[in-house]
Amino acid sequence: MAEHLTRANARPAVAVIGGGYAGMAAAVDLTRHGHAVEVFESGPVLGGRARRVTTQHKTFDNGQHILIGAYTQLLALMQQVGAETKQLLYRQPLTLYYPQGFHLSAWALPAPLHLASALLFARGLRFSDRWRALRLMQALQEMEFQLTTDCSVSALLTQHQQSENLRHWLWDPLCIAALNTAPEEASAQVFVHVLRDSLAGTRSASDLLLPRTDLSALFPEPAAQYVLKHGGKVHTQHPIRSLDELRQAFSHIIVAVGPHHLAQLMPEYKDVTAQFSYRPIYTVWLQYNADIQLPQPMIGLVGGATQWAFDRGVLCGESGLIGAVISAHGAHESLSKAQLIQQVHAELAPHLPTHAAPQHAQVIAEKRATIACTPHRARIDMRTTHARVFLAGDYVDADYPPTLEAAVRSGLRASAAVCAALQNTATSSAGLLI
Ligand SMILES: Cc1cc2nc3c(=O)[nH]c(=O)nc-3n(C[C@H](O)[C@H](O)[C@H](O)COP(=O)(O)OP(=O)(O)OC[C@H]3O[C@@H](n4cnc5c(N)ncnc54)[C@H](O)[C@@H]3O)c2cc1C
Repeated sequence: MAEHLTRANARPAVAVIGGGYAGMAAAVDLTRHGHAVEVFESGPVLGGRARRVTTQHKTFDNGQHILIGAYTQLLALMQQVGAETKQLLYRQPLTLYYPQGFHLSAWALPAPLHLASALLFARGLRFSDRWRALRLMQALQEMEFQLTTDCSVSALLTQHQQSENLRHWLWDPLCIAALNTAPEEASAQVFVHVLRDSLAGTRSASDLLLPRTDLSALFPEPAAQYVLKHGGKVHTQHPIRSLDELRQAFSHIIVAVGPHHLAQLMPEYKDVTAQFSYRPIYTVWLQYNADIQLPQPMIGLVGGATQWAFDRGVLCGESGLIGAVISAHGAHESLSKAQLIQQVHAELAPHLPTHAAPQHAQVIAEKRATIACTPHRARIDMRTTHARVFLAGDYVDADYPPTLEAAVRSGLRASAAVCAALQNTATSSAGLLI
């Protein structure tokens, strides 16, 4: 009998390569459906591009992340594995607060009034801006959020007569935050999908959810506990060099590695992955005195390097720690770490109670944070040429930006495909017995 049928109470065993959000989502879902799962993660910590890092005896996230209420699959899986979303996430109605002169906040009204009220009462917008923004949302709604041809976000905004002011405070920062790609080159269709699922969704879909714990503890580690509790295995520091290592022992394999690692395991994807270009995300962690706080848990800044800053004291009890996020390409990439720290501090200082310099600081530059989210990006099928091998990862779904939710959804789709395949095998074996 093949080894994969003799393990774990004769349940067929499924291997998941990669312990990021996609891989752990797949592992949890397979476990939930009663399958024996083994996860192989090359790094020392689960989480992949959303993980805890320890450097010089200090612990940070590799990058501050934001979730939104529309991340329904991730939120459901967190509940499934016992990661209490109410405790682990700081939830607030959509709030964009720029101390330099813009403030938008969704009201506690049912959709779409929450959005209408947010735009109508936003500080920093002219009357004509509010009207144009509402008209854009209405036009997209009438198109059922489907463009006839994809174009850049900038082109879409020009087509819908969005003013410079609106772009400056609202659309451009949202595009960069959601797609990690500059509006001039970002896919309008993907941006429109984000607007559909967030601003044009239910009121709670547009809520901002800010982690109150590190990114490994938020989902991947509780997910691993869930898998272990149900008889599965999770290995860290266990890189898989070739699928051949697993073929004998496992009935199916889910390859949930990042896009830049795929071709190493599956050389047939070399040409496809060569078409991807990547965009960086820098997080500058600044440790100030414990009594230093931002005016809000999350603030936006424009005109410099810093795009968003997060108060980890309020969010995670890490008093005085501020995380400054810089997404996509920009002039900051040519600065040394020391220069960048100095610049980010200078940008934050006017919004802090004192101008005292941070006691220490750390720059984490994720050069391949995500693939660029451009129009007509390559579509990759979850199914591969190997009948028993499936792909998962934030890059697989070309309709959604590469995010935690995209990763989780892809993991669930891969798991569903494996479950269906196993079900078919079980049915045909039963047929043979009859
Ligand atoms: C700095 C930063 C900020 C971000 N901000 C946000 C945000 O605010 N909101 C949001 O939703 N998303 C954000 N993202 C994107 C989000 O983190 C990713 O979309 C998501 O984590 C991708 O998950 P994944 O499982 O698809 O891939 P990965 O996280 O890359 O997981 C793949 C895993 O496979 C492992 N692996 C690779 N090769 C092998 C091998 N041969 N054997 C075993 N293991 C292997 C890797 O070590 C890794 O752990 C951000 C990303 C970064 C980097």
